[in-house]
Amino acid sequence: TGVPGTDKERTFIAIKPDGVQRGLIAAIIARFENKGFKLVALKMLWPTKEKAESHYADLATKPFFKGLVAYFSSGPIVAMVWEGKDAIKTGRVLLGATNPAAAVPGTIRGDLAISVGRNICHGSDGPESAVHEIANWFTPEEVSDYPRSLDEWIV
Ligand code: ADP
Ligand code: MG
Repeated sequence: TGVPGTDKERTFIAIKPDGVQRGLIAAIIARFENKGFKLVALKMLWPTKEKAESHYADLATKPFFKGLVAYFSSGPIVAMVWEGKDAIKTGRVLLGATNPAAAVPGTIRGDLAISVGRNICHGSDGPESAVHEIANWFTPEEVSDYPRSLDEWIV
């Protein structure tokens, strides 16, 4: 389970502090649930600065890194793992472009956000980052492997 390239591919999706504050938790979860992906882990937590830094370790040299870590650790987030065929790539399609100004209508960021520094959601950008991010926020026991009777109708 959780193998990239299979119909059990997993991605880490988070509703950032602004998404929580704006009351968009249900709306964002609905996009993934309605699409057909399977929720295999979910929790609300308030990220420490250290955990936010390890989550965004790849961006440590960027000029916006300090502000990004402050933003991500500014309040509770909703951390999730979603599973399904092409979950990583298709998950990012659902989120829309990083900069909401460029995100097309119909995407989460295109419909619900304005600024790149307040873009309400996160999604893994590849198989390696998905593994790193899931392990950063969840223990293996917190991820549930369970059958869903409607899987055959989706894939
Ligand atoms: P994504 O979240 O789409 O994978 P990146 O990994 O490139 O995008 O960046 C991580 C996060 O950093 C973005 O979602 C956004 O919140 C923030 N960010 C990216 N670029 C900028 C920028 N130019 N100014 C401020 N924040 C930025
Ligand atoms: Mg990214």
